[in-house]
Amino acid sequence: MSLPPCPNCQSEYVYQDQANFVCPECAYEWNPQEVAEEDVIKVKDANGTLLSEGDRVTLAKDLKVKGSSLVLKIGTKAVVRRIVEGKDHQLDCKVDGAGEMMVTAQFVKKA
Ligand SMILES: [Zn+2]
Repeated sequence: MSLPPCPNCQSEYVYQDQANFVCPECAYEWNPQEVAEEDVIKVKDANGTLLSEGDRVTLAKDLKVKGSSLVLKIGTKAVVRRIVEGKDHQLDCKVDGAGEMMVTAQFVKKA
Protein backbone atom coordinates (compact mmCIF):
# COMPACT_ATOMS: atom_id res chain seq x y z
CA MET A 1 0.00 0.00 0.00
CA SER A 2 1.47 3.34 -0.96
CA LEU A 3 0.20 6.58 0.49
CA PRO A 4 0.32 9.89 -1.36
CA PRO A 5 2.97 12.43 -0.33
CA CYS A 6 2.04 15.12 2.16
CA PRO A 7 0.16 17.90 0.27
CA ASN A 8 1.70 20.41 2.65
CA CYS A 9 5.41 19.54 2.58
CA GLN A 10 5.62 16.67 0.06
CA SER A 11 7.02 14.32 2.71
CA GLU A 12 6.95 10.65 1.75
CA TYR A 13 6.64 9.45 5.33
CA VAL A 14 2.89 9.83 5.52
CA TYR A 15 1.03 7.27 7.57
CA GLN A 16 -2.61 6.48 8.02
CA ASP A 17 -4.48 7.05 11.27
CA GLN A 18 -7.99 5.63 10.87
CA ALA A 19 -9.69 7.74 8.16
CA ASN A 20 -6.98 10.39 8.13
CA PHE A 21 -3.53 10.59 6.65
CA VAL A 22 -0.90 12.11 8.91
CA CYS A 23 2.43 13.67 8.04
CA PRO A 24 5.05 13.12 10.77
CA GLU A 25 7.27 15.89 9.45
CA CYS A 26 4.92 18.88 9.47
CA ALA A 27 2.10 17.34 11.52
CA TYR A 28 -0.40 18.00 8.74
CA GLU A 29 -3.48 15.78 8.91
CA TRP A 30 -6.05 15.37 6.21
CA ASN A 31 -8.88 13.16 5.14
CA PRO A 32 -8.19 11.74 1.68
CA GLN A 33 -11.91 11.43 0.97
CA GLU A 34 -12.52 15.12 1.56
CA VAL A 35 -9.63 15.98 -0.72
CA ALA A 36 -11.12 13.76 -3.41
CA GLU A 37 -14.45 15.57 -3.18
CA GLU A 38 -12.80 18.94 -3.58
CA ASP A 39 -11.11 17.71 -6.70
CA VAL A 40 -14.12 18.62 -8.82
CA ILE A 41 -14.03 17.74 -12.47
CA LYS A 42 -13.88 20.93 -14.49
CA VAL A 43 -15.94 20.80 -17.62
CA LYS A 44 -16.58 23.79 -19.86
CA ASP A 45 -19.34 24.49 -22.33
CA ALA A 46 -19.07 25.94 -25.85
CA ASN A 47 -18.40 29.41 -24.42
CA GLY A 48 -15.82 28.25 -21.89
CA THR A 49 -18.25 28.57 -18.98
CA LEU A 50 -17.74 26.04 -16.21
CA LEU A 51 -20.61 23.61 -15.93
CA SER A 52 -21.87 21.99 -12.77
CA GLU A 53 -24.41 19.34 -11.97
CA GLY A 54 -27.97 20.64 -12.10
CA ASP A 55 -27.18 23.31 -14.69
CA ARG A 56 -29.70 23.96 -17.43
CA VAL A 57 -28.10 24.00 -20.85
CA THR A 58 -29.13 24.23 -24.48
CA LEU A 59 -27.50 22.44 -27.38
CA ALA A 60 -25.04 24.63 -29.25
CA LYS A 61 -25.33 22.56 -32.44
CA ASP A 62 -27.42 19.82 -34.00
CA LEU A 63 -26.44 16.48 -32.52
CA LYS A 64 -27.03 13.08 -34.03
CA VAL A 65 -27.94 10.47 -31.48
CA LYS A 66 -25.70 7.46 -31.81
CA GLY A 67 -27.46 4.33 -32.95
CA SER A 68 -30.64 6.08 -34.04
CA SER A 69 -31.93 8.45 -36.72
CA LEU A 70 -32.83 11.02 -34.09
CA VAL A 71 -31.24 14.43 -34.43
CA LEU A 72 -31.34 16.82 -31.51
CA LYS A 73 -31.77 20.33 -32.83
CA ILE A 74 -29.65 23.26 -31.79
CA GLY A 75 -31.35 25.06 -28.91
CA THR A 76 -32.84 21.88 -27.44
CA LYS A 77 -32.96 22.20 -23.67
CA ALA A 78 -31.28 19.78 -21.31
CA VAL A 79 -30.39 19.47 -17.64
CA VAL A 80 -26.98 18.28 -16.52
CA ARG A 81 -27.57 15.40 -14.14
CA ARG A 82 -24.02 14.31 -13.66
CA ILE A 83 -20.54 15.24 -14.84
CA VAL A 84 -18.08 12.49 -15.54
CA GLU A 85 -14.42 12.50 -16.40
CA GLY A 86 -13.48 11.86 -19.98
CA LYS A 87 -12.32 13.34 -23.25
CA ASP A 88 -15.85 13.62 -24.60
CA HIS A 89 -19.40 12.92 -23.50
CA GLN A 90 -18.70 14.37 -20.08
CA LEU A 91 -22.30 15.30 -19.41
CA ASP A 92 -24.97 12.87 -18.35
CA CYS A 93 -27.95 14.94 -19.45
CA LYS A 94 -31.68 14.70 -19.43
CA VAL A 95 -32.55 16.09 -22.84
CA ASP A 96 -35.99 17.51 -23.66
CA GLY A 97 -37.82 15.06 -25.89
CA ALA A 98 -34.98 12.55 -25.93
CA GLY A 99 -34.41 11.43 -22.36
CA GLU A 100 -31.13 10.66 -20.73
CA MET A 101 -27.97 10.62 -22.74
CA MET A 102 -24.30 11.45 -22.65
CA VAL A 103 -23.43 14.73 -24.32
CA THR A 104 -20.11 16.38 -25.08
CA ALA A 105 -19.70 19.52 -22.97
CA GLN A 106 -18.41 21.61 -25.87
CA PHE A 107 -21.69 21.07 -27.72
CA VAL A 108 -23.84 22.78 -25.13
CA LYS A 109 -24.25 26.28 -23.74
CA LYS A 110 -25.21 27.11 -20.21
CA ALA A 111 -28.74 28.51 -20.28
ZN1 LIG B 1 4.01 17.28 5.71
